Amino acid sequence: MRARYKPWADEYLKEQTSYVELNPTENKGKWHSTFKQEQPIHLEIGTGKGQFIAGMAKQNPGVNFIGIEVAKSIIVTAVQKVVDLEPNNVKLINDDAKDLTKMFAKNELDRIYLNFSDPWPKNRHEKRRLTHRTFLEQYQEILKPAGEIILKTDNKGLFEYSLVSFSKFGLILDEVCLDLHELNDPTNVMTEYEEKFSAKGQSIYRCCARFPK
Ligand code: SAM
Repeated sequence: MRARYKPWADEYLKEQTSYVELNPTENKGKWHSTFKQEQPIHLEIGTGKGQFIAGMAKQNPGVNFIGIEVAKSIIVTAVQKVVDLEPNNVKLINDDAKDLTKMFAKNELDRIYLNFSDPWPKNRHEKRRLTHRTFLEQYQEILKPAGEIILKTDNKGLFEYSLVSFSKFGLILDEVCLDLHELNDPTNVMTEYEEKFSAKGQSIYRCCARFPK
């Protein structure tokens, strides 16, 4: 996902104190207290322009959502969406997900969403894939026992790689779907990439994996 450089982004993010957590490591172990209500916390990694997290927050008021997105020029669009919607169950972080254990305590989260993550197809970039073993080690620590990872992608290579990586790590696969939109799942909230790729006729893959208790 590309976005034009936005010189105002820094200042804008600093102003949106209700939704943007500028020092996420300070909330480690205390994320519940940053929300209005104490309820399960779901993290989306690579939130992009925020269509998914905004839609999920509206559809699921009984869940608190945190989105992390590394690109400043992209996350500002997600912040704008959330500011317009005024939910009390969304927080956004502009940072890299490589250090999640500095931001979240053991067992702090209930679910992680990976939506259309960058596939990094070259072997030498394998470690950057968000389903590489090193990321799974972090997810296992910050998720509760039996915590879930839900992955959606149009990329067959990343999907196959992730299924193998999950299995090797001992995750339990609760769902492996090769054509999500054929299911007509009324709870499915589309991401920006999902809309773009499905409009082109591409199948969307979804997998739900769970850590053992
Ligand atoms: N999830 C959105 C969607 O489905 O429309 C965006 C998908 S886009 C292909 C991947 C996004 O993940 C980009 O916005 C990118 O900046 C972000 N991203 C990639 N690696 C990341 C990381 N390590 N930490 C946080 N965000 C990351």
